[in-house]
Amino acid sequence: MKIYMVFNALLLTLSACSQNDQWYSVEDFSKVMKIDAHVHIDSDRSTFVEKAIADNFRLINVTLEVDDGWNDVYRKYGDGLHQHQSFPKSVDMITSFAVSDWDEENWEGKVISWMDSCFKQGALGVKVWKNIGMVSRDTAGNLISIDDDRFDPIFRFIQERGKTLMGHLGEPKNCWLPLDSMTTENDRRYFENNPQYHMYLQPEMPSHEDLMDARDSMLAKHPELRFVGAHLGSLEYSVDVLAERLDRFPNMSVDLAARMGQLFYQTANDREKVRDFFIQYQDRILYGTDLGDNGERSQENMYRSMDENWRRDWEFFVTDNIMSSSLVHDPFLGLKLPKQVVDKIYYHNAVRWLGMEE
Ligand SMILES: [Zn+2]
Repeated sequence: MKIYMVFNALLLTLSACSQNDQWYSVEDFSKVMKIDAHVHIDSDRSTFVEKAIADNFRLINVTLEVDDGWNDVYRKYGDGLHQHQSFPKSVDMITSFAVSDWDEENWEGKVISWMDSCFKQGALGVKVWKNIGMVSRDTAGNLISIDDDRFDPIFRFIQERGKTLMGHLGEPKNCWLPLDSMTTENDRRYFENNPQYHMYLQPEMPSHEDLMDARDSMLAKHPELRFVGAHLGSLEYSVDVLAERLDRFPNMSVDLAARMGQLFYQTANDREKVRDFFIQYQDRILYGTDLGDNGERSQENMYRSMDENWRRDWEFFVTDNIMSSSLVHDPFLGLKLPKQVVDKIYYHNAVRWLGMEE
């Protein structure tokens, strides 16, 4: 009888262990090694990186051309390089290039030799931004499109060097809707404050579908190119639509940067659908936030938003807590993904898709 009871207790302990082994908890947040694959540190101070290290995050610092052409690229890349050299185990970089001198002779050659110099310094890939397709024009006044043949040698070079193209092309679909029809509060705030990017106000500009078609036609021309679609590949409004693209383009993955609100919105409507998407595409999703340091925010303010975002997202992915967020109107349940799925989204996928050292 005694032996039987001991055996039973042992069985109970074992099954409790394997249950705990399958899920992470909120408390595991700072213990688990993670990667934020989309940050912007436009500063040489170490404030942001120090907190990331304390929270067990590695960082991918992303460069882009905003509105000052190559100067943007050089300055932002320079900040990333400085961070990488100061914290080689914690910060990696993705470089960019400018299209401000698109019509100049040998523009392609300039871009390729710039990328080559960045790769020699350890850059993992190259980012293209929404200015391509929505803002930047050639000297004749036409918008430059991402499927223009002049990009072909550039994307071929990235692929041949085993690097990754990251693309933020287009905007969330909300951008083409009036403010009061938008699905998330953060989009509403952003487009209210940045009317120059609010396409609903500019019907002469390309549609969301036009921009997705251009991106898809570029991917179809470069099937071997490793591509990370930033911000859920600009198909943040529907995991069904996104799944269809991931099926069509096997070398495409997506990051989650600044689109958690869209996931919360869809989760509030149909949690199982969103959870199934994460299980089915567990090898194609990279955790990222778009958090950053512009060099001016107070440490307190910056650390508060890092905590809010990083800990909120962790709770969403590892628990089935009832949650609410200022990003969306309705409450929603966490996805409680199995540990091995969380590990992929938070670490292994970035390593693989960005060719990082383990
Ligand atoms: Zn970004």
